[in-house]
Amino acid sequence: MAAKSEILIVGGGVAGLALATRLGKTLGRRGEARITLIDKSFSHVWKPMLHCFAAGTVQNENNRISFMSQASQYNFDFWPGEVISIDRQNRKAVLGPFQSAEGSAVLEGRTVHYDALVLAIGSCANDFGTPGVAEHCLFIDNLVEANGFYDKFRMELLKAYSQNSELDIAIVGGGATGTQLAAELHKALDLVRLYSFDSKPPTLKITLLEAGPRILPAFPEQVSEAAKKQLEHIHVDVRTSAMVSGADETGFTLKDGTHVPATLRVWAAGVKAPEVTQKFGGLSLNRSGQIIVQPNLRSVDDERIFAMGDCSFIRDEPLPPTAQVARQQAHHLARHLPALIRNGTELPSCVFRNKGAIVALGDYNGWGTLPGGTVFGGGFLKGLSARLGHLMLYRQHQVELYGLYRGLLSCFADWLDTKVRPSIRLD
Ligand SMILES: Cc1cc2nc3c(=O)[nH]c(=O)nc-3n(C[C@H](O)[C@H](O)[C@H](O)COP(=O)(O)OP(=O)(O)OC[C@H]3O[C@@H](n4cnc5c(N)ncnc54)[C@H](O)[C@@H]3O)c2cc1C
Repeated sequence: MAAKSEILIVGGGVAGLALATRLGKTLGRRGEARITLIDKSFSHVWKPMLHCFAAGTVQNENNRISFMSQASQYNFDFWPGEVISIDRQNRKAVLGPFQSAEGSAVLEGRTVHYDALVLAIGSCANDFGTPGVAEHCLFIDNLVEANGFYDKFRMELLKAYSQNSELDIAIVGGGATGTQLAAELHKALDLVRLYSFDSKPPTLKITLLEAGPRILPAFPEQVSEAAKKQLEHIHVDVRTSAMVSGADETGFTLKDGTHVPATLRVWAAGVKAPEVTQKFGGLSLNRSGQIIVQPNLRSVDDERIFAMGDCSFIRDEPLPPTAQVARQQAHHLARHLPALIRNGTELPSCVFRNKGAIVALGDYNGWGTLPGGTVFGGGFLKGLSARLGHLMLYRQHQVELYGLYRGLLSCFADWLDTKVRPSIRLD
């Protein structure tokens, strides 16, 4: 590759921003390569927190990292824009016109050249073409959608308050997203009570629909069982083996004909890559649209293209779409891309080291699994340790991006904020 290579990273999520920051500190700082990050939004959020944004139980502003500010501190360039295709022959990413929130054109469509391209555009829920879902369901795949859900949730709560009626919410998908969202919404109602009117608070009826035989299928059975019990304890109606066959403006229809009424309908099941991967110059994709890569994260079709995180798929060793995988893959590329850029050294395979997983049900309970299969959590104290573990993952991510000093300051600022502002978004 040329002496001053151009490395283009598309997507500033868990994987992309970690990579841009790390490469900025090495290749960028020494002027050995020009590193550019492109993202369709202006700020980064820790996606595993989206269900908290959707429930309004965390403040938005504190938990966003501005791409521009990060770029200026860590020697990389940032451009806002949505990549709509890739011209592999001319080594260019094609960006669509950039529009303001009101829909007026701000920037014309443009292209950005690359010598090495890293795709890290994440994933979204998969409705598997279920009739009515696209039109009648809400998704929480990004901050805009999570905020949109919160606005609707707040308005429906207000209506239920004024009419002294029940608010029905149905969530499809008993994985980590759906399960954690159900608990967080319940927590939100508990918090709203602290600030609400004199009238009796409305009843929140949350139904969690899972097609498989148990919720949290990626966790051991005892965690699924304990989480189900905890959810039922807070009156969430957990229905397993409940295959959804359609959605309309009144709720969901199950395969056995049952109708589940719901004013708010959330689809949090399945994972697929964003549709745009179909326009990536014929790169090989799996059935979920994820880009097929070699074990060293290089595309199987193009030696200049790499993919990591949720949008990638290693054929011989499929990995789950988790933040842990995304981070490790970003660290791998950050460690080995410099040698490739400097002297063409081939990248070794990326070996995933499973460090366990954690699920937290609001403030109610939490569980974790360790690599050997040991399960911890449950009950007040152990549940607390699991919930703290969940929080620590986020703090670790902040420290990685901000550096130790700013990372710790930011934790302190968040703590101060909890003393000053209401514990739920009320704006
Ligand atoms: C509610 C929820 C809870 C979760 N909880 C957990 C958990 O507890 N533990 C865990 O390990 N994982 C969890 N996950 C999964 C985890 O968030 C993902 O695995 C992780 O974020 C993947 O990182 P990524 O970098 O691949 O993609 P992302 O973090 O999704 O980042 C993708 C980025 O690409 C940008 N982008 C997308 N398309 C384009 C485009 N065409 N052009 C430009 N930019 C683009 C997006 O704006 C985004 O910034 C959760 C996910 C959700 C939704």
